[in-house]
Amino acid sequence: MNLSVVVPLLNEEASLEELYSRIRKVCTEAGLSYDVWFVDDGSTDNSWEIIQVLRSQNEHIHGIRFSRNYGKSQALHAAFSRVEGEVVITMDADLQDFPEEIPELYRMVTEENYDIVSGWKKKRYDNVMTKNMPSKLFNAAARKVSGVFLHDFNCGLKAYKKQVVKSIDVYGDMHRYIPVLAANAGFRRITEKEVQHQARLYGASKFGTERFIRGFLDLITLWFVSRFGGRPMHFFGAGGTLMFIVGFFSALWLGISKLMEMSKGVYGNLIARNPWFYIALTMMLMGTMLFIAGFLGEMIIRTNREHKNYHIDQII
Ligand code: UDP
Ligand code: MG
Repeated sequence: MNLSVVVPLLNEEASLEELYSRIRKVCTEAGLSYDVWFVDDGSTDNSWEIIQVLRSQNEHIHGIRFSRNYGKSQALHAAFSRVEGEVVITMDADLQDFPEEIPELYRMVTEENYDIVSGWKKKRYDNVMTKNMPSKLFNAAARKVSGVFLHDFNCGLKAYKKQVVKSIDVYGDMHRYIPVLAANAGFRRITEKEVQHQARLYGASKFGTERFIRGFLDLITLWFVSRFGGRPMHFFGAGGTLMFIVGFFSALWLGISKLMEMSKGVYGNLIARNPWFYIALTMMLMGTMLFIAGFLGEMIIRTNREHKNYHIDQII
């Protein structure tokens, strides 16, 4: 199969039929063999009924229904583990993305050999204050932290080589950072393509402004995990050991000077009156805790060792 189209959706009953007929039209005209995976992420409207009807009329359609709303990342994950197409294209269900972009995206992945082609809504039709402005900031931060140079990380319209979606683990709210996850997994041929965008025709956006707060927290996690996730001891252990050593020698020095004082016959000076006493104590305690945190991290990695954190390109 040439192509699998993955569509995560939550309460999008009004657009599904049109979306599918447009996907079918462009794929047929381009001569692509394809299937479409609708993932119903716990809709409470008629979305699932519509998917069932579409499926009964059409062998190109697959449907996955979640028992409740788990989130877009989980919806993508469920489809990614099942798709068979050589190229996988994700697309929002709300018709803000244009199915007509599919053939060009497909061509860029197959002929220009990109691992990921990410859509870039250069001209956006969303609210300027609540979406476009914060989104610019958010993308700038994501570029800076991740080193992946995309204008529009969160665009729902993206094309991947099959290998990419099979190698990455989209969890939490990480759908915003799939290109970063992929880059961390070693897929470096990432590019973007300007895509058309239009205002939502039906329904409302499923993400409020809290998306930016979550997005930034996820970005920090991602940065941290990609730097130290595989070796927590290097972060916690190094800091912890250093602190402990400083604390220990300060305490030692305090003890020795106290003994020297006593040998000179001076008794009244309590060691606890010296601020260094508290600094040394805190440093030793914090150092030990950091060290333990790093150690526990290493142990957790050890028990999860079957979790693949490398990606093999070729074996001959
Ligand atoms: N979506 C989903 N699960 C959710 C939230 C959203 O599957 O918990 C789907 C939604 O139906 C749409 C896509 O993710 O197909 C993008 O959502 P939306 O259009 O609301 O986001 P926006 O365009 O405002 O960024
Ligand atoms: Mg949308």
